[in-house]
Amino acid sequence: MQKLLEGIRRYHDEIFPTKREQLERLMREGQKPEILAVACSDSRIKLGDLTQSGPGELFVVRNAGNIVPPWGEMPSGVSASIEYAVNVLPIRDIIVAGHTGCGAMHAVLEPQAIREMPQVMGWLKFAREAHCTGSLMETTRKNVLLQLQHLRTYPCVKEREDAGKLGIHGWVLMMETGDVDEYNEAEQRWERIT
Ligand code: ZN
Repeated sequence: MQKLLEGIRRYHDEIFPTKREQLERLMREGQKPEILAVACSDSRIKLGDLTQSGPGELFVVRNAGNIVPPWGEMPSGVSASIEYAVNVLPIRDIIVAGHTGCGAMHAVLEPQAIREMPQVMGWLKFAREAHCTGSLMETTRKNVLLQLQHLRTYPCVKEREDAGKLGIHGWVLMMETGDVDEYNEAEQRWERIT
């Protein structure tokens, strides 16, 4: 915690002054992000660094396993954030980003690891179909595609995608190398985009 407090002070004194104008403008004019990203809560992921994005550019939803519960399944922070972003903000693309070494995907592969955690078990039921006999990477990729399917159950998402106003992307972040793979839906294969 001490490190965090020192960080806050350093940000305030040294870094914030270099961003003051930008942040004042964003606060005055409101946010206009064009990208909505759904990523895992994993502490090793820094989406801003990875995509070299600054304040106001990414609207981010993070949770264990980068999961999107299907439409109408239950009101949740994830579904509310997606609905808000797509209806109110000028979102043009949605990215669902899984990552290598994901603990949630490990739990999907080996559910006995989370049997004492009913909330985690309940949440990961939205990823259960990604379970496969293959590797952790295979499950991670399958989960991203499953969550894209769930995303398309949202009427506001489906409508805009069908109208050509919204792009939907599935990514896997290679945490060890900084590479990113994207699923090419037309070709039905994963491609490196870095
Ligand atoms: Zn994860």
